[in-house]
Amino acid sequence: MNNLAIKTNEMKKYLLINGEKVETENYAPLYSPYSQEKIADIAMADKELTIKAIDAAHEARQLIGGMPAYKRAEILENVVLLLKERADEAAEIISLESAKPLMFAKAEVARTVETYKFAAEEAKRIHGEMIPFDAAVGGVGRIGYTLREPIGVIGAITPFNFPLNLVAHKVGPAIAAGNTIVLKPASQTPLTALFIAELFAEAGLPAGVLNVVTGPGSVVGEAIVEDDRVSMITFTGSPDVGIGINNKAGLKKTTLELGSNSALIIDKDVEIDGIIDRCTMGAFSNQGQVCISMQRVFVHEENYEEFITKFTEATKQLKLGNPLDPETYVSSLITKGELERAVSWIEETKQSNAEILTGGKVRDNVLEPTIIANADQSLKVSCQEVFAPIVIVNQVKSLEEAVELVNDSRFGLQAGIYTNNVKNAFYASKNLHVGGVIINDVPTFRVDQMPYGGVKDSGTGREGIKYAVEEMTELKLVVWNQG
Ligand code: NDP
Repeated sequence: MNNLAIKTNEMKKYLLINGEKVETENYAPLYSPYSQEKIADIAMADKELTIKAIDAAHEARQLIGGMPAYKRAEILENVVLLLKERADEAAEIISLESAKPLMFAKAEVARTVETYKFAAEEAKRIHGEMIPFDAAVGGVGRIGYTLREPIGVIGAITPFNFPLNLVAHKVGPAIAAGNTIVLKPASQTPLTALFIAELFAEAGLPAGVLNVVTGPGSVVGEAIVEDDRVSMITFTGSPDVGIGINNKAGLKKTTLELGSNSALIIDKDVEIDGIIDRCTMGAFSNQGQVCISMQRVFVHEENYEEFITKFTEATKQLKLGNPLDPETYVSSLITKGELERAVSWIEETKQSNAEILTGGKVRDNVLEPTIIANADQSLKVSCQEVFAPIVIVNQVKSLEEAVELVNDSRFGLQAGIYTNNVKNAFYASKNLHVGGVIINDVPTFRVDQMPYGGVKDSGTGREGIKYAVEEMTELKLVVWNQG
């Protein structure tokens, strides 16, 4: 770890309020989830400091709201350039604080560059539409149009699992649309959030537009949600926290990107060799800590034996270990508590008819990628969000049965289907109750301009820059009486 471009150990971090680095009374040590080494001391904000950040964001509304679109786009373009220059450093920070294997951290940085690029482009095409007023008897003699205005102060609360790109999905469209932000990153990933905020300052973003407040969700997050000057909460995280936020948000607008137990259907006649790499990525990238991780696979009985044999073989080859080793595919879960929970869910399957095909054990603080066959729908690994390198594979007799099993879930984020049959693809896209159906790929597929979000307990609202901009703007109508 001594070869890192970033300097750790002695790092003492700060809050970022109104362009100033603000110290706090209390600091909490941040440890690497893999090595348990101390990485930094993180400033712990209290309610008062959170309110100061909201004051700053409230004061700065005109600075960004009144800024022309080309300037907002320019700042975002500058961030794209700066992030490209410092891509390796960004990937190391992600890897260090979240134990995301470097190869996936690098991929996240590359995607984040695209996300900010989309935001820069979107800043230039925020517009309303003409309304045909004379279509109503009472509207004759009027012309009118809609405008999209910034919503104001946005509270952005983000999770640990994509600490750079999920911040980008909030900060990018918020700035594109002319809003100010109070960002509360996950307690395990504050360094990535502070890193990008520094790039924004360098890129020319006025002080007060982006404020970063680190500290416990129950203190900082709640203070943001409670404040009347915050017009919108954009939250990505677990369903329980998201539902709690929604209950307290009152009339604030909310976007909630929550969890899932995403599924893949493999139809008959699919060439199995061609899909194994995608399946290992879908199930095990970032240790399965991906909201659209492939958690459940329903395979047509004709393909079942071949699939489980080849999938198990490929999974056994994955390299476990230090996230900073470029060869590592699977590393530690985010906390010891999460590791214990995942192991206890595997233990539960041993009391049932399920069979562990590979994995299930912990090696050097890393849970082996685990495949479980024949898991009942009522087991936790099936019906709850597993958020660990665990996937269940069950066989089905028909597509209809598979679709029914996928839909038998409290979640509905994305689902995938591999099929060569057009009719079956149509059937799946019509009948799967999810936010996105991915045909001929795993449910884990995402690029950053597509509309993304869930139904049922997977949340409300959509991200994907254009769609997030819609959520982050108010529609205003202007009517001219020509009479
Ligand atoms: P959490 O829900 O634990 O935390 C998310 C954020 O909420 C953190 O910043 C956390 O702060 C904060 N928070 C915690 N308690 C409160 C509170 N009472 N009020 C306000 N904020 C609070 O999620 P994880 O970080 O563990 O992330 C994993 C979850 O995120 C999974 O369920 C996953 O599916 C979901 N997710 C969804 C995505 C989507 O787009 N649908 C994408 C990625 C992840 P602190 O860290 O200090 O507790």
